[in-house]
Amino acid sequence: MSNSIGIAGAGFSGAIIANKLANAGFKVDVFEPRAHVAGNCFSSRDNSTGIMVHKYGPHIFHTDKEHVWQYVNKLASFKPYVNRVKANSGGKIYSLPINLHTINQFFGTAFSPAEAEEFICMQADQDITEPVSFEQQAMKFVGKTLYNAFFAGYTQKQWGLSPAELPASILKRLPLRFNYDDNYFNHQFQGMPEQGYTPIIEKLLNHPNIKVHLQQKLSRDQCSEFTHVFWSGPLDAYFDYRLGRLPYRTLDFREIRATGDYQGGAVVNYCDADVPYTRISEHKHFTPWEQHQDTICFAEYSRQAQPEDEPYYPVRLVNDKQLLSAYVTLAQQERAVTFVGRLGTYRYLDMDVTIDEALQTADAFLQAHAQQQVVPAFIISPL
Ligand code: UDP
Repeated sequence: MSNSIGIAGAGFSGAIIANKLANAGFKVDVFEPRAHVAGNCFSSRDNSTGIMVHKYGPHIFHTDKEHVWQYVNKLASFKPYVNRVKANSGGKIYSLPINLHTINQFFGTAFSPAEAEEFICMQADQDITEPVSFEQQAMKFVGKTLYNAFFAGYTQKQWGLSPAELPASILKRLPLRFNYDDNYFNHQFQGMPEQGYTPIIEKLLNHPNIKVHLQQKLSRDQCSEFTHVFWSGPLDAYFDYRLGRLPYRTLDFREIRATGDYQGGAVVNYCDADVPYTRISEHKHFTPWEQHQDTICFAEYSRQAQPEDEPYYPVRLVNDKQLLSAYVTLAQQERAVTFVGRLGTYRYLDMDVTIDEALQTADAFLQAHAQQQVVPAFIISPL
């Protein structure tokens, strides 16, 4: 009992903490409600084509954190991969994220970087000094015309809300460039694990001190059997939703099979409001070093998650943050439970941040345990 750890969830957060604690001599039980490990990073080869499919939507590894890049590269062989996304707006194809090519394509110009910057500055709403909403951020960032073409419809479909109701932070994820760099991410390190993400998680969990229980939920009552519990499931689920449900968006995927090349690249975003899906991803393009005759794509449809759905994106509007804050207060009254990851802290997290935080959490636990100190409910604040 004195050195036993329970972990809810076998995604990156749960697997990394399990691995680090197992290495330190703890006995770890990992409970995973699904029939497989790896959480939403789960990837597996499609039976008929052999293509590596990301079951819960595309996951491209990108980071600026060198230690995280080194960490994942010790676990798997990564191949160079640069995410280049195209946008379909008004029935035409453009380069994304918005860059010099997009601007010149859209306005039919041949601007230099300086000319494009001056032009966008004129389009942008200079009166907005402190953008609060997504819409204000977009108006300040690119102006009304590009906002309407690339962000308004897509964002309404993705979040089910008007961009005027959404926080500016969502748009801050995307770059705006006045050169021809069409790399979707600004990060220094980017790549794809050669054999997908699942073997990485399996490797982390393959340890004599770790027992994985698939298709089993860790119940709140069971938690008292462990010295400490790490909960990477939904924060509100731990409390049986006693204060209400934290809202999430979920995704439905429509499978498209074809021969040859369906769309010519890994991701095409559909920015118009009257196209019901947000994007189509063609998964064989995530492994450009492999050859496949046939192809498999998924069109993504976003909607509000119902209790039986997989939670994907935390919504985090003002009211949701109030509910989150009430759950955080409850969590802080628990003893010996630490909440981690996207679902445990109700945040929109990229994989590299999840990994970094899981490493920090395991270190903080080991340090506190060695000094017989209390381990807090949150190592990283969700608020
Ligand atoms: N977005 C948009 N148009 C696009 C791509 C993104 O309006 O073509 C907005 C949308 O609100 C989205 C956000 O920018 O939620 C962040 O985009 P990102 O590609 O990071 O979304 P993710 O891949 O995490 O779903």
